[in-house]
Amino acid sequence: MKADIQKIKDLLLKESYVSQENMDKAEAFSQKHKGSFLDYLLSEKIISPSLLGQALAESFHVPYADLTANPPTKNQVLHIPEKQARKYNVVLFHEEEKKVVIATDNPQQKDLIKSLAPLFSKKKINLSYALPEHIEGAFVHYRQSLDTRFSSILKKQTKVASELIHEIFEEAITEQVSDIHIEPQSDNALIRFRVDGVMQETVEIEKEYYENILNRIKVQAQLRIDQHFVPQDGAIRYTSQKGFIVDMRVAIVPTLEGEKIVIRLMSQYIRSFDLGDLGLAASDQKIIQESVKKPFGMILVTGPTGAGKTTTLYALLKILHKPEVNITTIEDPVEYRLPKVNQIQVNPDTDLTFEKGLRSIVRQDPDIILVGEIRDTITAEISVNAALTGHLLLSTFHANDAATALPRLLDMGVEPFLLASTLEVIVAQRLVRKICSHCRHSITVHKKDIAKTAPEAASFFKSQKVTLYQGKGCESCKQTGYKDRQAIFEFIHITPEMQELILESPSIQQIWKLAKKQGSKTLFENGMEKVKQGITTLEELMRVAAPRELS
Ligand SMILES: [Zn+2]
Repeated sequence: MKADIQKIKDLLLKESYVSQENMDKAEAFSQKHKGSFLDYLLSEKIISPSLLGQALAESFHVPYADLTANPPTKNQVLHIPEKQARKYNVVLFHEEEKKVVIATDNPQQKDLIKSLAPLFSKKKINLSYALPEHIEGAFVHYRQSLDTRFSSILKKQTKVASELIHEIFEEAITEQVSDIHIEPQSDNALIRFRVDGVMQETVEIEKEYYENILNRIKVQAQLRIDQHFVPQDGAIRYTSQKGFIVDMRVAIVPTLEGEKIVIRLMSQYIRSFDLGDLGLAASDQKIIQESVKKPFGMILVTGPTGAGKTTTLYALLKILHKPEVNITTIEDPVEYRLPKVNQIQVNPDTDLTFEKGLRSIVRQDPDIILVGEIRDTITAEISVNAALTGHLLLSTFHANDAATALPRLLDMGVEPFLLASTLEVIVAQRLVRKICSHCRHSITVHKKDIAKTAPEAASFFKSQKVTLYQGKGCESCKQTGYKDRQAIFEFIHITPEMQELILESPSIQQIWKLAKKQGSKTLFENGMEKVKQGITTLEELMRVAAPRELS
């Protein structure tokens, strides 16, 4: 941040963007940890990026350019050559017949307008302020495709494998890929990425390079190079160009064409998690925050693999994380690291199973326990007992929806009265892909056409002509029309009435009937809200959470 720090502090206080109390906290934090007070204000959500941007713009006496709400197109970004753009941290924000608006994080740079003038012939240049991380985000358009970068590495002939791997990892981190697949075929190898839950083909490489890449990855993951016919698992800790540490889990499986490599990237961006980011409506956030305030009990998050269950649990842990509480987790694997939380990784090789780990945790007097997953009767029983004896227990459970979790747990042999007295809330969730904000547009659809493809959805609309949204497909979303994901939720609250019902070993239908009476909405109903708001499409919702028959 190049603006005068004292000036910014004064402005934030004077205009009541930040209270004196919060500013004192931010200053204490920045002195203690040698970090920026602005980082503290942002990560604690005391101020939003757009408010901060407006405040900073004010301090420079220029308008604020919100690059996230109005992202510049690739053409706009490329209009200014990369070297010049990076030197001044500038991006073309808006263009008209006689004037252009340039966004920069420092409108007071000497010679700025003079250096840009030749690019815009006779147009008037106006400056506006944008946050540096948003400008950096727009610079993504300067990146060449992975394909192009690969060919230039292959031309060099030295250290090819490690450079290719470096490019694959960097691309995967920038594109927020969850898994990298490197698949040998008969005469080449295919690299595919999983993005927002969907596989995408990325690039093909010749088989001779594949062998080198395989060996290099095995070395990095501390696996045996000479072993080709058994599955191997390992881990790589990679430091990205931008300095993020990304932990990767490497799984190698022999196939007919050779050893297939799958690398899972463990997200480290836990810092910004909160329930709002996940897509929880304010009213649901309040309910869930209330239930985690109790000193004991059990909160279960259900859904299939890849539904974002762990992320939700971690967002809850973040709320609960205070110096006076002792939090211990047992996970397989540890997906995110949290400072000052004791995290235990299940390890069958050393006989550290969920069961043994959990038993020893309970003896260590934690206040809050996170169990990665309740997988079997024994973990279920220890968990319920822990919740009963003064611990708050958070866990995930593999069930399609919230109502199914209860009978499944009872089937596992958990006593109904124990379950009834420990459970606080059951959450079910899915992740839906969000419509790409760069190419989103509205369309008008006839209600009768919706009724044909998704009859259950039609009743959510009153008029015959319905406005829906979709992504056209653009550079930013790789022509898919979708970018990022958001969770949709379903809740069942264990009210005294629900407790009584659990004692009767109820059916899924009975549970849902009561839940509905208490105001619960299904995943589909919750998702329809997001369809109407233009966050996702009806097709995506039907793919992820088609309505089910419950009542
Ligand atoms: Zn797009």
